[in-house]
Order: sequence, then structure tokens, then C-alpha cells
Amino acid sequence: MSEIRKHYFLPEYCIIAEERGKRPSDFTDEAGDMEKMGQRSKPENCVFCAGSEEKTPPAGAVYKEGRIFADTKEKRVINWDFRCFQNLYPALSPIPAFSELSGAGENAKPGFGFHEVIVESPVHGKKLGDFSAPELSELMQVYRDRICHYRAHENIRYVSLFKNSGEAAGASLDHPHSQLLALPLLPPLLETELQTIGKEDKCPYCALLEKEKESSRLIRENSECMAFAPYCSKSPFEVWILPKKHVSYLGDCSKEILSGLGEMVGYVLDSYGKVLRNPAYNYMFYQLFDAPEYHLNLRLLPRISLVAGFELNTGIYINTVSPERAASYLRGDRSPEE
Ligand SMILES: [Zn+2]
Ligand SMILES: [Zn+2]
Repeated sequence: MSEIRKHYFLPEYCIIAEERGKRPSDFTDEAGDMEKMGQRSKPENCVFCAGSEEKTPPAGAVYKEGRIFADTKEKRVINWDFRCFQNLYPALSPIPAFSELSGAGENAKPGFGFHEVIVESPVHGKKLGDFSAPELSELMQVYRDRICHYRAHENIRYVSLFKNSGEAAGASLDHPHSQLLALPLLPPLLETELQTIGKEDKCPYCALLEKEKESSRLIRENSECMAFAPYCSKSPFEVWILPKKHVSYLGDCSKEILSGLGEMVGYVLDSYGKVLRNPAYNYMFYQLFDAPEYHLNLRLLPRISLVAGFELNTGIYINTVSPERAASYLRGDRSPEE
């Protein structure tokens, strides 16, 4: 049971998704109990591992040897490469039971939507930075398929596709996976961005590519994409990856662009591993399927600094490593000890 609430007068939303009967002490127990965390992360208790297919909801898409299958209630596909299924504890649901939490009228509606898990490998503890180029390319194709799948749903307006890796990034399991939430609304962040783009003569992301190509913030370039540390980095070692061609969402991407994206993600994660010793990180796709003026971009954030009171209060971030310096480490121009 969940509810989408809109702030009374600010452009903000929240999703209230109560887990049944959670008490305040459950939060403090969890935070203090590293052992519990360790237990959940062990392969023998992991529901994402090969052999535990029965413990998840049936997968709507199972990738195996380059083909797509689907589980049934009775029979699960085994020996897979990627598996996509609805989250066991979804924040949003396709058939939401309207909660009687708020009674707030037009500022609250049932938590309609989809919350999917994309398991990226049958192997527990495998790191994305260690994926081969073809594996990364296939992962990007899986992402594209899933976005297109939800795009086709008439009530879905935005699909948030992201990865949390490591405890500090919000991952509760060590098994490599991404998530997506398909929402019935356009997030205010994207809405504001679209308004800004609408006032420009030229796509600001295309202009940004021109600018960063020559800058000391450039990290790497391949035939399809560019990775750079953004001029206004919110935290140390933030990286943006942009396709060079103007595409607004993954559904517009050719196989070549998807491979280019995958190669770039692999490079950046490998660099994070070397420079920051395998930090927890998040990456998020920014993309819109009903706004051709938007330019798809992927943002990666290692979770090595805390968002604290000042950042929460102002939306302004204090960053202790300049993007120019961060880029030089990620390019391999400096050793991590320098
Ligand atoms: Zn596992
Ligand atoms: Zn563009």
C-alpha cells in the first residue's frame, strides 16, 4: 500500500510506502546491526543468486543466450544472464490499494506505478567494473528494452533507472542489480530542466559536449560517447556520460551508442576502483521519452562525502575536490597517492 503525495505549494513529491508494522526500534536495530547486514549479503541468503529463482516474483523478462524469455508462476527460467522482476517490497504498485493515510484530497493519490529489479548477473558479488565489454553492452540493451516496455504503458510518464552499489549508496544486497521505478508523473527536477531547455536556441547538452571536449575536465571519449567531470560537480569525482549524438532516451539509441555507453561505464567504474578503492556509488539515467529536445545523460556519483545539513537546507553542495583534479585522477594522469 503506498501513496504519492504532492507538496501543498512547493514543486515536490514524496511516496509514502509503509512497510507493514515497522517500529522505530526496527530502524535503530538495522542501523546498528552490521551483522544483520552481513547476513543478508551472504550468497546462501541471497534471493538474486542463480538457484533462488523461486524466491522472487516471476520475472517478466529473462535474458539467456541473447534471447528473451519469461517466467511463469509454475516454472522459472534457469541458466540466465539477466533477470527482471517486480520488487518484492515495491514502493509503487500497478494495482494500488488506496491507503487512508492522509485524506489530503487532490494532493494525494494512490501509489500507482511499477518498481522493478534488474539482476545483472547470476554471480553473487560480481562487480560491474569487472564486466566484459559485451556484457556491459548487453546490460545497456536490457535497460533500453525495459524503458521501452514501460514507455508503452499509457499512464507512465517517467522511468527512473538507477543503480545503488554498496551500503553507503543504499544497496541492501551485494548481488549486482539495478532498479527502475515507472512513475505516473514527471519529476519536478526534469520539468524545470525542460523549461530551461525550452528557452535555449540550441540543446544545452550538445553545447556542453562542445565545451567539455576541449576542457581539462574531459576524462575519456570513444566514438559514441564522452565522459567528463561536470564543471559544477556536486560531490568529489562526479562523472557525466553523454552520447555525442542528440538522443532523448535509451529507446532512441543504436546498438553502437549502447556499446559506447557500456564501454564508458566500465571505464569509469574501473577508474573508481583504482582511484577510490571500490567506493559505494550510484548512477542514474536522465532521459525523457516524450521530449525530443531532451538529451540523454548518465550521472555517476561515488558516495565518499556526506550530504549534510547545509546541502539539505540549501540544495548547494560543498565539494572538496575540483572536477579538474578529479578528471586528472580518473584519466590516470596522477596516481591516487599524489
Ligand atoms: Zn546473490
Ligand atoms: Zn543535445
